[in-house]
Order: sequence, then structure tokens, then C-alpha cells
Amino acid sequence: MAETPARTVHYIVKVSKFCNLRCRYCYEMPELGNRDAMSLDQLDRMYTHIAAYYGAQEERSRIVLVWHGGEPLIQEPELYWETFARQKKIFAGREHLQVENVVQTNLTVLDEERIRLLRDGFDGVGVSIDLFGGLRVNLAGKDSQARVLANMDRLREAGVQFGGISVLTRRNLHQVKKIFRFYEKMGMSFRLLPLFPGAFEDQHADFSITADEVLKAFCTLADLWMESDKALNIVPLSGHIQAAVRHLRGHTLPTFYNRREWETAIMVNTNGDAFGYPEAYDAAYRYGNIFTTPVDALLASESRERSVKASEMRMALSCARCPYFGSCSGYYMAEDNHQYVGPEAQGIAMCVVEKQLVRHIEERLKGSGLFTGAGRGAPAVTALERLDAAPQENLSLSVPA
Ligand code: SF4
Repeated sequence: MAETPARTVHYIVKVSKFCNLRCRYCYEMPELGNRDAMSLDQLDRMYTHIAAYYGAQEERSRIVLVWHGGEPLIQEPELYWETFARQKKIFAGREHLQVENVVQTNLTVLDEERIRLLRDGFDGVGVSIDLFGGLRVNLAGKDSQARVLANMDRLREAGVQFGGISVLTRRNLHQVKKIFRFYEKMGMSFRLLPLFPGAFEDQHADFSITADEVLKAFCTLADLWMESDKALNIVPLSGHIQAAVRHLRGHTLPTFYNRREWETAIMVNTNGDAFGYPEAYDAAYRYGNIFTTPVDALLASESRERSVKASEMRMALSCARCPYFGSCSGYYMAEDNHQYVGPEAQGIAMCVVEKQLVRHIEERLKGSGLFTGAGRGAPAVTALERLDAAPQENLSLSVPA
């Protein structure tokens, strides 16, 4: 009998906020000059707590540590080699735990040692690049992109596998086709991430986007994906395509996202404070400190209970009457607290993009021949097979460094 796949949890590890860039949308803006970094001992304590909690579970767990900043590659490579060695010792003997280390980098700080670290030390690499818009600038306001493109070439020459993350803003909204063609030509998986809240009011004033614009961009991207010969994994679009296909097939087991049962992402601030993904950095929702507190105590905290209840409320208001619920797990509403608050929502985030995007994909699949059968219970779907064959880089929960 086939083994059930391990349940995945992402720990987003803010190793240090220090950064050489000042991307204009960065939500860490006030902290980017702060050189504080996690110490090896603090990281040991975090691993010890993670190993104890997931090691006590009966089911297998896949623990993905997403190294994040600031710019994590400003830290000396020795920090990572040493902490990876200690990590191996701490997790040793726990056969049902799979631990991976991935890094999200702006790829502006690169030398031979760091190339070796990315190739031989990390299990996955995400590169932040918007391709259009000029928002990823250094302290002097100079666009970093030419350097990042040159460093991407160096990584390819060195045989380092990597994916891309591009932030969707007013500055590149109309270049979605070119963005897709860039990644298609490179054969790279990527995440297109709609602009997220910044560090202060009006930070995004001249490049903000509306929910309708996000929807339009993703519909364009979906059309391009269906016309392409390449099986690129595009996050989050792959999930929407899978939801549409499931809905068309009509005979697969429904899936419902249950954050209470399994927390898929925990954000760890540089000082060890842990948060759920929807309310990261909100002091009112701090679970506790992972350097000093076991994971079971963090997950049993009163602030996590409030965070989970808020997720459940968003799902109840948006998903319960949605025709796609079960084909779509409701993950987007559970894990996203702040994107699209419509006038009808009375201050509660509503599903504006996802539902219409899944509907658009469903209609396109029906009309395109990619969905080969007719009606419910139809046979295998070419599109889904292509998705299954696509490389699955760890792009799902990263945001740009
Ligand atoms: S409301 Fe949105 S998130 Fe919820 S099931 Fe429907 S498409 Fe998915």
C-alpha cells in the first residue's frame, strides 16, 4: 500500500532583518538597518522544540525551514554550515521527520562561497525579481535588477536550481505576459505575489493594485499557462488549476483546509517570537517565543486560538456557500487575513479573486480541449498531469527578501 504523504509545515525563519536593498514595498522597512541576527544557540533551541513536537506525532512530518530576512545571504555562510550540522544532530534518529532548508534571497550578494552554499547547503532557492517596475532598489535608489539577472546566470552556470518570486504591482501589472514568457524561456517555476501590506500607511500609494486588477492578471496568466508547452509550476495559480480540475471531475474526495488540526506555517521573528501566517507581527496574536517555549505550548496559546477562530470565521463567511468549496480547500481564506476587504464584508476579508479565478479556469478548460471528457466523472485531465509533472520548488509561503 502506498505510504501517505508527510504533512508539511513551513517555519519562516527571520534570521536577521538586515538588508542591502530598500525595496519600496518592503514590509520590513523600519528594520532593514538592524544587524541583529539569530544566534546558533537560539537556533538550536528552536530545532529542539520543533523536533520534540513533530517527533511525538504519529504521522510523518515534512518540516520546511524557510530562511528569510532582510537578506539572509548577508550572513556569513559559516553560520548556515554550522547550524545545518547542529540541526542534523538535533533531528537525528527521528526517521519520520523530513527536514528541508530553503532560502529566499534578493541575489545581490553573491560570491563563490555563497554559490556553494546555495548549491550544496540549501535544498531550495527562491530569487526575488519583479522584472518590471524598478521598485527593488538599493539605499541610493538604484535598481538592483541588472545585478540579479547577472547573478541568476552565475547560478545556472554553477548548476544551482532556483525558482523566482515576482511581486505584482501597478508597475508590472500590464507586463504579465512578458513576465510569463521570461520564466517560460528560463524553464523556471515562479510565484506571482500580489502586493501585500507594507510597513506604514501610504507606502504603496503610487503602485497599489485593486482586487479586480489582481484577478485580471491571474486570468491572463492562466490563459498563458494553458497555451504553453511548458509545465511550469506557478504559485498560487497551480492550486487554482487543480481546484478547477477537481470540480470538473466531480468525483474526487473533497478537501477542506483545517488550520486548527494542522498549522501549515509559522513565522519566527528574529527575537524568536512566533506568529501564525495571517497575523504575522501583530503583538495581539503572538503565540509566544520559540527559543524558550515548546511548540505544543505555542499552539495551545490563547492568541493562536483567536487567530484560528478568525480563520474559521473567514471560511464560514466566504467558503460555506461557495460552489468550489471542497474542490478548493478554502486555504486562501483561512491563511489570508488582509488582502481584499470588499464593501459588503463589513471589515472582514472576502474571497474576491479566488472564486472568480477558479471559475475562469474551469470555463477555459471546458472550452479548450485540455479537459478531454464530457461532464462529471470525466477521464484523466491533461492539465492536471502537466501540473503533477511540474517541478515543485518551495515557493508557496515565501515573500520577497
Ligand atoms: S470562497 Fe474562495 S477560498 Fe473559499 S472555497 Fe470558494 S474559492 Fe475557495
